[in-house]
Amino acid sequence: MSRIKRILVTGGAGFIGSRLCETLVEQGHDVICVDNFFTSQKSNILHLVPCANFELIRHDVTLPLFLEVDEIYNLACPAAPGHYQYNPVKTMKTSLAGSINLLGLAKRCRAKILQASTSEVYGDPEVHPQTEDYRGSVNPIGPRACYDEGKRAAEALFMDYRRMHNMPIRVVRIFNTYGPRMHPFDGRVVSNFIRQALTGEPITIFGDGTQTRSFCYRDDLVEGLIKMMENDSDFIGPVNMGNPVEFTMLELAEMVIEQTGNHSEIVKKPLPEDDPTRRRPDITLAKQKLGWEPATPLRDGLRKTIEWFRSIDISNYTPPTPRY
Ligand code: NAD
Ligand code: UDP
Repeated sequence: MSRIKRILVTGGAGFIGSRLCETLVEQGHDVICVDNFFTSQKSNILHLVPCANFELIRHDVTLPLFLEVDEIYNLACPAAPGHYQYNPVKTMKTSLAGSINLLGLAKRCRAKILQASTSEVYGDPEVHPQTEDYRGSVNPIGPRACYDEGKRAAEALFMDYRRMHNMPIRVVRIFNTYGPRMHPFDGRVVSNFIRQALTGEPITIFGDGTQTRSFCYRDDLVEGLIKMMENDSDFIGPVNMGNPVEFTMLELAEMVIEQTGNHSEIVKKPLPEDDPTRRRPDITLAKQKLGWEPATPLRDGLRKTIEWFRSIDISNYTPPTPRY
């Protein structure tokens, strides 16, 4: 195994962050999880708390933080549309002030820092599939802007810190990721469809259901994030990470219905404003530079996610979003 490092994961109690913490703890690293629990539950990381090489700090990344670390994964940010639109000003602050605080921390400690960016930087793309050199088509004044523009500005900050201070940064543009520990009421399509199918509610398709997304299983993504952090070349990204197999929302609904064995009816709801019509990552760069590509087909990842949803007591989760 490589040298044991002290690693900070912000947003470490979230559904991706908790899996990242778990993996790094298993690898023997000294892991510090920072989270304000805005969109996550303590239950996601409770099993790690007794580990000697895991530490949990309740903290909001919009405020400065003083720690000594070798690496930082910056995942703190509400990610589901219903969550990030709940308090859009706070969402923007989390991306901006959060990045500035963590980049400052990384600079002081000479730590490597990875930013969890997003396919949303491409907005509603005119280029398909999306490559890293595509500059995107984002509505800067729409309801998704607090997230999309916040993440775009964070990328700009990371690149400026690199140019000014030659810092070892890493930027990963994450495409739709799903898996166990998603908040059942986060309003995202996979969690909505599974929760609806399991509880016998109608499955809500927004628009006509022909819009597409490409879904990456959480564990594949976490492996990619670690590979990107550990690459010792001067490859800083941005790099796309996601599963390049594309599905319509209607196809996803049918797959969830088939796999849960429940026969929920499908109902159509209005398409939210600025909802991207299609999205699929071109992952050539990740394959070439990191030897990374996802291994889990949607069918298998959905089975594991459905199993997890069956194992939890949904009444322990508060429905916080206006959109679930
Ligand atoms: P999540 O909501 O489960 O995790 C986000 C975590 O950040 C939560 O634990 C939340 O409580 C925490 N957080 C939010 N604001 C914070 C603040 N101000 N201070 C401290 N903690 C804060 O969502 P996720 O899907 O696991 O997303 C993790 C990261 O990956 C986010 O940065 C998100 O933008 C990025 N991402 C996710 C996807 C996806 O499809 N899941 C796609 C693109 C990018
Ligand atoms: N969607 C849907 N029904 C739902 C929730 C979402 O049809 O109950 C659609 C949504 O309009 C979008 C797609 O599914 O076209 C993915 O939505 P999600 O919020 O998961 O992610 P994002 O739009 O950020 O990719």
